[in-house]
Formats: sequence, structure tokens, C-alpha cells
Amino acid sequence: MDLAGASALVTGGGSGIGRATAILLAQRGASVLVADIDDAKAKGVAEEIAAAGGTASGIGVDVTDETQVADMVAAAVSAYGGLTIAVNNAGTSGAFGSTADVATEEWRRVLAINLDAVFFCMRAEIPALLGSGGGSIVNTSSGAGLMGFAGLPAYVASKHGVIGLTRAAALEYSPKGIRVNAVCPGTVRTPMLETFTGDEETLQAMGRAMPIKRLATPEEIGEAIVWLASPASSYVTGTALAVDGGASAQ
Ligand code: NAD
Repeated sequence: MDLAGASALVTGGGSGIGRATAILLAQRGASVLVADIDDAKAKGVAEEIAAAGGTASGIGVDVTDETQVADMVAAAVSAYGGLTIAVNNAGTSGAFGSTADVATEEWRRVLAINLDAVFFCMRAEIPALLGSGGGSIVNTSSGAGLMGFAGLPAYVASKHGVIGLTRAAALEYSPKGIRVNAVCPGTVRTPMLETFTGDEETLQAMGRAMPIKRLATPEEIGEAIVWLASPASSYVTGTALAVDGGASAQ
């Protein structure tokens, strides 16, 4: 998976799965724009990559703002001479609560970050990818994009939506040289999961509940994203790849 010459952008790149993906892309030779609403974290990851000999820069972007998203794509094109890999990964779990108890504001907040923003990103990235002669988009969905989970209706709906959007765009743009795929992580030890669960004992229990008997590391998801982003997966498009320790096989 030699990505020398590739120009990549990763949203939510300041933490967890996005951070691991940005680092792995750079290790394989891609130049990476690390984008995150937390500007300091984005720049910190870019510095980490540069210190290890890679090429990266960091940018503060709220992916729910379509103007900022367009500027982010323009920044990647101008920094690295084009765009060939886009990883739309920024997301939030949303608050726990059953469907009848979800406030409209919370519903809209989760859908804005997890689904509208993926659309904004793809809409801005596709012309840049076409202008670079094609490439690969990887959207981070979830096991919750493949199955229902009680207590997270907005999250489940948004992540199913990401898979729908991925499939539609794959049919539209694969003939033009852009492959579009989604990755569906299981339960991954990241700040999002740690905040959501709140304590170590619950985290350990979640790991034991997986068929593989442990949580995933962010790097294990990053490896799948890098594979989908790279020419190693050249015949794969429109798929939703479960990287979930067997959860969806149950
Ligand atoms: P994380 O909290 O470690 O990282 C998410 C990053 O997204 C953060 O750095 C955050 O600042 C950024 N972000 C949030 N809102 C943003 C916005 N509006 N604009 C730009 N950046 C924004 O979480 P993670 O677990 O690494 O999650 C990454 C993705 O993986 C998410 O889409 C999440 O839904 C998905 N996912 C995670 C798990 C898991 O178990 N951790 C499982 C399945 C799917």
C-alpha cells in the first residue's frame, strides 16, 4: 500500500480513528491535511506526523459549515497539488435516550455532524478528486449503520444514512474514477467511547461482549480505511465494510 504522491484529507483527524488514519496514511507516503473542529488537536497530529518524517498540515474546520468545508478542500488542493483520498470521519455519538425522548435540537445536532456534513464534504471533494484524475472516498459509518441499537436513534439513523449516501455516490462516480466506500467500526477504544461509557469497567464489559472478546484499537480501523483508500482495494466500491470483531455476524 504505497501511497507516495497521494494527497489526503481526514476529518475528525485530531482524535481517535481519524488521528490513527492520518498517521497511517502519512506512514504509507500520502501528504495529509488533518481537519478537526479542534484546531489545536488537528495541528498537534500534523506536527506528530511531521516529526516522524511525514508530510501533513492541520486545519480547524467545523464540518457542519459548508463554507468551511469548501475552504478545507481548497486548502488540501492548494497544499498538495490536488486531492486523491478523502476520509470523512468526524462524528458524534449523541446523547443516550429512546426515540420518544429525543429533543428536536439534539436530533438535528447529531444529523448535522454525522450525515449533513458527510454530504457537504463529498459535494466539495468530488470535483477536486475528478480534477486530480480520480481517487477514493472513505466515509466512517458504524456498526450502527448496519444494525439498530436501542437508545441511540439519531446516531443509528445518521449512520444508516451515511451508507445510503456512500452507495448512491459510488454508483454515480465509480464510472468516473472515484471509488466510494464506508467503514463500519465496532466498539473502538477512543475518547468518544470513553466519554460515552464513562468508566473502565463498562468499557471492559463492552469488549468482552464482542465475539472477538475485546475492544478495537483506532489503528485497527485506520488500517481498513487506508486499505479502502489505497489502490490495493481497486475493485471495491459502494461497500460498507464491517470492522467489528464479528458483531454483525451474530
Ligand atoms: P473521537 O471523539 O475520538 O474523534 C472524533 C473527532 O471528530 C474529534 O476530534 C472531534 O473534535 C471531531 N469532530 C466532532 N465534531 C466535528 C465537527 N463538527 N467538525 C469537525 N470535526 C469534528 O471519536 P472516534 O471514536 O474516533 O470517532 C470517529 C468516527 O468513528 C465517528 O464518525 C464515529 O461515529 C465513528 N465510530 C466510532 C466508534 C467507536 O466505538 N469509537 C464506533 C463506530 C463508529
